[in-house]
Amino acid sequence: MEKLIYLDNNATTKVDERVLEEMLPYFKEEYANPSSMYDFSKKSSHAIKEARGKVKDLLHAENEKEIIFTSCGTESANTAIRGYLSTVKNKKHIITTKIEHPCVLNVYKYLEKQGYKVDYIGVNSNGELDVEELSEKITSETALVSVMMANNETGVLNPIKEISEIIKSKNSETKFFVDAVQGAGKVAIDVQDLGIDMLGISGHKLHAPKGVGALYVNSKTMFTPLIIGGHQERGKRAGTENTPYIVGLGKASELAIDNLDYEMTEVARLRDKLERGIIQNIYNARVNTGLAKRVPNTTNIGFEYIEGELILLHLSDLGICASSGSACTSGSLEPSHVLRAMNVPFTAIHGSIRWSLSRFTTEDEIDYVIDKLPSVIEEIRRISPYQEELKALKEMKTVK
Ligand code: PLP
Repeated sequence: MEKLIYLDNNATTKVDERVLEEMLPYFKEEYANPSSMYDFSKKSSHAIKEARGKVKDLLHAENEKEIIFTSCGTESANTAIRGYLSTVKNKKHIITTKIEHPCVLNVYKYLEKQGYKVDYIGVNSNGELDVEELSEKITSETALVSVMMANNETGVLNPIKEISEIIKSKNSETKFFVDAVQGAGKVAIDVQDLGIDMLGISGHKLHAPKGVGALYVNSKTMFTPLIIGGHQERGKRAGTENTPYIVGLGKASELAIDNLDYEMTEVARLRDKLERGIIQNIYNARVNTGLAKRVPNTTNIGFEYIEGELILLHLSDLGICASSGSACTSGSLEPSHVLRAMNVPFTAIHGSIRWSLSRFTTEDEIDYVIDKLPSVIEEIRRISPYQEELKALKEMKTVK
């Protein structure tokens, strides 16, 4: 295989071999419907129970019954938000952030059309949430507060515990939903300690396959299922259980727990090395998040006066995969809504690249990128229409 350096793990991750191994029997000999009565189905139903326990452990939920398997992070978010709000008849106020993933933001845009009032809280230039503004917006009418754990484009972590404490002190009836798709497997999650009512995760962001996710809903939170049909998942999500994928998510959750220390130390070290290597070797590259607290695997770096898409194409020729926005928004030339909310200067917003590592990223790969990237940027800048500005920057040799 040609060289492949995959630094786009916030878009999706490679399935861990151990996850695949665990899944395979449920495609082959153990294909029974887990809801069937005969003995043949026992192994499947038991495997689902085990997987539920592992997701419960990953999230530190109180009870396995609080874990519902879904098809993806998007379904988890839709179920939590719409399912919960449909049980609240008299309150129509929601608070969220400007930097949520589209699978959350677009649900709120939809709900606005249904008569809900939604406040979108902003961030500062490092991508950190304005918690004071959020606090001021909570009223007796607030049904739901919804804040992502970590942003997919910048990796910036939101102060979830602080927010849940503010919510409880201002309106104890307000529920708190956290999209933790980019947090799970990268930072420790304890839903009880963090005071979270509902939380979504996605398998393909933590080395399980695409097509499986989970939703935590604590036992005090009512909701109406989004998908109605049979009695699977205790009536909370109909449809025959996807046994192999659920088993895969369970194994991935177990591995994520084991890997957390490595993530916080080694993955963070390699990310920091990459960041330093880029900043030191390329003039006017800026870390868009400054010193904000982030998940260990992500950095978002702006290269002034050039187009991110061009950088990605050149990198692709070298076998390097990165991203210029979230996977769902790349493909359009609109600058990312997250970087816009941060007011990243126009000179850097179009040339911003997200690098996201994983436990499979090696030192050699990081060295290769640090070695190759300066000439890529130099070559693209040579054809940039902003020659005067670039010359001035080079002379200043500014390093941010
Ligand atoms: N939430 C965040 C923060 C994400 O980054 C993503 C995917 O990129 C999702 C939700 C959606 O997850 P899925 O692709 O499993 O629907």
